[in-house]
Amino acid sequence: MRTVTVLGVGVLGAQIAFQSAFKGMTVVAYDIDERALAAARGRFDGLVKTYGNEVPEAKGAAAQAALSRLTLTCDLGQAVEDADLVIEAVPEVLALKQQTYETLSRLAPAKTIFATNSSTLLPSDLAPFTGRPDRFLALHFANRVWQFNTAEVMGTDQTDPAVYAQVVEFARAIGMVPIELHREKAGYVLNSLLVPFLNAALELAAGGYADPADVDTTWRIATGAPIGPFQIYDIIGMNTPYNIMAHGSPADQRLAAWLKENYIDQGKLGVVSGEGFYKYS
Ligand code: NAD
Repeated sequence: MRTVTVLGVGVLGAQIAFQSAFKGMTVVAYDIDERALAAARGRFDGLVKTYGNEVPEAKGAAAQAALSRLTLTCDLGQAVEDADLVIEAVPEVLALKQQTYETLSRLAPAKTIFATNSSTLLPSDLAPFTGRPDRFLALHFANRVWQFNTAEVMGTDQTDPAVYAQVVEFARAIGMVPIELHREKAGYVLNSLLVPFLNAALELAAGGYADPADVDTTWRIATGAPIGPFQIYDIIGMNTPYNIMAHGSPADQRLAAWLKENYIDQGKLGVVSGEGFYKYS
């Protein structure tokens, strides 16, 4: 697969498009209107700088050269007319994604494989709207794709194994480490581990059992991990964990309320605001 279209050039879509172009793919980036495309251009310019600073192979002109393989458009038909693979990264709203696939199914050629980057929806929630459930699956990236380069690959019962294998190969070709799930699982591998882990840490602090710094120290010394759960909270920022817990069980909602009262309402959002569980200069 050489020709890739990314739908939705927001935080993740821009990174996926840029990384694919950086690794030599021909990429079309689609978003809804000129305003969104202008924002996308700004994101790509930012990524040229970030790659130049953080990615050893991007020294010199390599990051800039990626831009020459990237085209931006707000014409969906044109965006997908030659696509081998469409990676969808539109907002995490079920109805919006379903509608996107309904339109896409009419416009894309029969050869095109569709992959969703959805974090919380299952591909089987979307498969009936794709018009080609055998050529549809999830390909889930992590924020900062050039650094945290896992790509979780998860099909439905209907996904053709040959299509699945092609997408695994594509992930590898753009510098990701493909993580293959054999069955559908909400949260894939990473969030199935990370969410309960972070919740357990928060219970220790919110219940008054131990200070966040001591929880982190325990985790680092006893397991050899480089950072502890509260350091992870600070990197992710408080809003995403808050939103997940606020929609969870009553116990999760109590943790969400504690996080809001003691951190979010006080502007302690993590690294991004200069203070979370720790202070940053
Ligand atoms: P975002 O809000 O930053 O970007 C969404 C983009 O989609 C915007 O540019 C918006 O203009 C565009 N858009 C809106 N409606 C559209 C439509 N109908 N067709 C095409 N584009 C449309 O969102 P994001 O954080 O990049 O998340 C996108 C997807 O990636 C979600 O499914 C999310 O679960 C997933 N994801 C996000 C992260 C993350 O850390 N942000 C990590 C992994 C996966």
